[in-house]
Amino acid sequence: MKAPEKFVFSFGSKISEGNATMKSLLGGKGANLAEMSSLGIPVPPGFTISTEICNLFFEHGEKVPENVKAEILKALAKVESELGRGFADIANPLLVSVRSGARVSMPGMMDTILNLGLNDQTVEGLAKKSQNPRFAWDSYRRFIQMFSNVVLEMNPSLLEVVLEDLKEEKKYKSDAEFTVEDLKYLVQEFKKQVLDQRGIKFPSDPHEQLWSAINAVFKSWNTGRAITYRKLHDIPESWGTAVNIQAMVFGNMGEGSATGVAFTRDPSTGERKFFGEFLPNAQGEDVVAGIRTPQPISKVKTGEESLEEYMPESYQQLVDIYKKLEKHYREMQDIEFTIERGKLWMLQTRTGKRTAFAALRIACEMIEEGLINEKEALLRIAPTSLEQLLHPTLDSKAKKTLLTKGLPASPGAAVGEVVFTSEEAELLKANSKKAILVRIETSPEDISGMVAAQGILTTRGGMTSHAAVVARGMGKCCVAGAGECYVDYNKEELRVNGYLIKKGEIITLDGSTGEVFLGEVKTVEPTPGIHFEKMMKLADKYRKLNVRANADTPLDAKIARNFGAEGIGLCRTEHMFFGPDRIDVVREMILAEDREDRIKALDKLLPMQRSDFVGIFSEMEGKPVTIRFLDPPLHEFLPHSEEEIAALATRLGKDNSKLGARIEALKEFNPMLGHRGCRLAITYPEIYMMQARAIAEAVVLVMKKNIKVIPEIMIPLVATHKELQILRAQVESEVQSVQKEQNTKFDYLVGTMIELPRAAVTAGEIAESADFFSFGTNDLTQTTLGLSRDDAGRFLGSYVNGGILPTDPFVSIDVEGVGVLVKMGVDLGRRSKPNLKVGVCGEHGGDPASIDFFHKVGLNYVSCSPFRVPVARLAAAQAALREVAAQK
Ligand code: PEP
Ligand code: MG
Repeated sequence: MKAPEKFVFSFGSKISEGNATMKSLLGGKGANLAEMSSLGIPVPPGFTISTEICNLFFEHGEKVPENVKAEILKALAKVESELGRGFADIANPLLVSVRSGARVSMPGMMDTILNLGLNDQTVEGLAKKSQNPRFAWDSYRRFIQMFSNVVLEMNPSLLEVVLEDLKEEKKYKSDAEFTVEDLKYLVQEFKKQVLDQRGIKFPSDPHEQLWSAINAVFKSWNTGRAITYRKLHDIPESWGTAVNIQAMVFGNMGEGSATGVAFTRDPSTGERKFFGEFLPNAQGEDVVAGIRTPQPISKVKTGEESLEEYMPESYQQLVDIYKKLEKHYREMQDIEFTIERGKLWMLQTRTGKRTAFAALRIACEMIEEGLINEKEALLRIAPTSLEQLLHPTLDSKAKKTLLTKGLPASPGAAVGEVVFTSEEAELLKANSKKAILVRIETSPEDISGMVAAQGILTTRGGMTSHAAVVARGMGKCCVAGAGECYVDYNKEELRVNGYLIKKGEIITLDGSTGEVFLGEVKTVEPTPGIHFEKMMKLADKYRKLNVRANADTPLDAKIARNFGAEGIGLCRTEHMFFGPDRIDVVREMILAEDREDRIKALDKLLPMQRSDFVGIFSEMEGKPVTIRFLDPPLHEFLPHSEEEIAALATRLGKDNSKLGARIEALKEFNPMLGHRGCRLAITYPEIYMMQARAIAEAVVLVMKKNIKVIPEIMIPLVATHKELQILRAQVESEVQSVQKEQNTKFDYLVGTMIELPRAAVTAGEIAESADFFSFGTNDLTQTTLGLSRDDAGRFLGSYVNGGILPTDPFVSIDVEGVGVLVKMGVDLGRRSKPNLKVGVCGEHGGDPASIDFFHKVGLNYVSCSPFRVPVARLAAAQAALREVAAQK
């Protein structure tokens, strides 16, 4: 590999070698620090070691190459000269932070070391310069703790114990009471522990500290939790992290110093107001870790002192900066700052994570403010995040027993059994049960438990603590900082306001209000709000694909219409027979010994089907409705146990043993490839003829109510054009009979599903008998990959985890395999019938990545489950916008 030309990029008040567009090289943090310094915003000087070095580091046996080290020292010298301090200078020491910074934010997943450069000599220099020996020694003991934990990989509790013992001995309530002498004692004790436990002297040479810290931060790219996070968020391993080395500024230098985190708009609601938290006399990590409860940035009614009141000048400066940043980035920012003795420093700016609700409001309002245009706004919303808005909230009328109120960290409602560890949350999930993960505070180790749980409750931490940020990103309900709760991990219990809740008991969280309730509280369907509607309308303006829904009942059809479905793309008629009053009639039809018996059963089914179709046509009010004819893998409908067979025989008035023999005879080794789909009608034409009649009669009935409908009759599982030719002729003759009987005429279409490879490759001939195609990508995936839809889940995980398949092909279309067949089917079909209408109704119709593909191959519509219709509308708009952008 050719070595990159430049590895280290400086920033500060005099120099800025990078900019915001260089995220892949400098990581998000580094690129934005460079950008801020170019904007003249006060940023402590420093430099970024590029992500390319992360890959080289691992290729070189976990070593930073010598030539890169030389560049680092040069960049360090620039920092020294800007500040007039010296690294390792005893009289006037420069201290630095060493932080990770990947291309996209991975909150808390990788390592950080602060106050680096301290030793027994430089600490005295710092004490003199700052005229605050307590601060200097406290920084030193914090540095040793952090360095031992991160770089020397010591168990953090070993040093914590030393600290806690001293606190107990001195009867101190908090760390703030430590005297200089205490801190000196702690420093010596910590070093002793390092020698005892690790067999090494704590490194006193700042350069040695620096090289080890850089190595440790690069190595943290490959910790278990970082790997899990990358998998969850589809972040490629090859990206690597950058390392940012920056002069330390101190929010813990006493009076007039502070540190904080803020959002330029409210990340929960999207409201345009400056929103954040700060801690006086603290280091940045204290806010993020949620160890102390922070105070608000802007004035609030509750009487807590805000930064606005505590340091009005710095507050005003911060307001000016946040406005400048938001205008510059044209995006809501999440910022970190430190005030050192009245001087404000910006430590970070990045795109702020937000709830889906907030994302929509921010996007709409930024259009109104003229900050972004409609297209940009649409491209900023993750389509699947809309699902967050479609989730239930708590029923306001339901009876509730309030246990306590914490911070509304991430909205939504969650009900589940209390558990105290991630493992237990995962175990419940594996057993299809719901868990509420209760923790004092969450750390990155809890990520898998947070994924598995329905909701998260923490007793410590603020709105910007780990639990809050991560839960919001996941769209998971979270109540944080519920300080009235007392959690006892050993006894596995939660005590709050006189209640004792043991592991396994049910509680309910309201992530929108921060309330925690005893037991299960009823939930209600959500109302996504006006900005959702606005954004959906915008999506409709730009998309080319139509969006329909897969709906089998009038109720589903109604939900789908409310979500904006423009028709029904798949009505699975066999699903109309799942009800207890209907299933026996279908069984009677399936089990019929001869045509006469079958017709008797079909005669019973006809009125049921007709009334369902009337309901659906009425609900859809003239919008297209595609009705897929019967396609039941027969085994799904037949009883299996002897008792069930006996009971059915009694109900149908049949002989038990004869019925058992008939069921036995119908058994198939491979029902998915068996007597299903159009094959049923090839052998028993009367089945589809009954369905054609039911549709035709229903059309006539709704026409009388002045509802115009053009039904689209869809024949499933066609492999050869002959099947379609034969069945189409039968359907047409039956519909014509009804038209004659009723003395009326109406239009209708007859089309087919393309869900077998043979159908895709012979689509040209099939199109001659089809008015439309709809790709059944569930079966097409099954038959193209030779993977059983019902069983592949058992081993597909290993394929995806092992990188053999990029994603589950039943979720996101296998572009290189199944996708090629889809494209071939579309092209061949349209070659023989240029205006052939083509859609998709497999599960992929609601998956954004697949929708992008379907747009590219020129489908007319996608059809998906009702709750995914909004997702599909937005994904379709994004596909169209991306295509236009790519053509430019
Ligand atoms: C399909 O195969 O993609 C399809 C929509 O049909 P079903 O899922 O009912 O087999
Ligand atoms: Mg199918």
